[in-house]
Amino acid sequence: MTGATAIERDGYGTPQRWVDRTGGPTLDELHASRWHHRAACRDWPAYLWTDDYTHAQTSPAIPICEECPVRGACLASALVYGDEYGIYGGTTASERARLTRRLRHGETLGAVLAAVLGSPERASSRADRGAA
Ligand code: SF4
Repeated sequence: MTGATAIERDGYGTPQRWVDRTGGPTLDELHASRWHHRAACRDWPAYLWTDDYTHAQTSPAIPICEECPVRGACLASALVYGDEYGIYGGTTASERARLTRRLRHGETLGAVLAAVLGSPERASSRADRGAA
């Protein structure tokens, strides 16, 4: 996002304490690691991730997210902190709303991340969390 990710600009909000974070990164890992420093979106205009048309799965931001080395941490953060707008971790707002419903029905964060990212290993790996 041309020098700053959404988290760097806006900071973390309040975590949704009801999320069962089993299998996903801990809050300490999300906060202490500097995963956003490796975000692929740093080199692109922020509007690709934030404007209204990011509701579309055809957004040009999504392929960039899919190749991002910290996609797992980004998506975990968006789900734990309830980021409702824009694209995070290669998901649109409406996709995250569906993922949030799964979390509300008791699925673990690790399971939801694995469903999106393709494997439990990738969802929970230290590298993908961006742990320093
Ligand atoms: S997954 Fe997408 S929004 Fe998240 S840090 Fe990477 S490029 Fe940015």
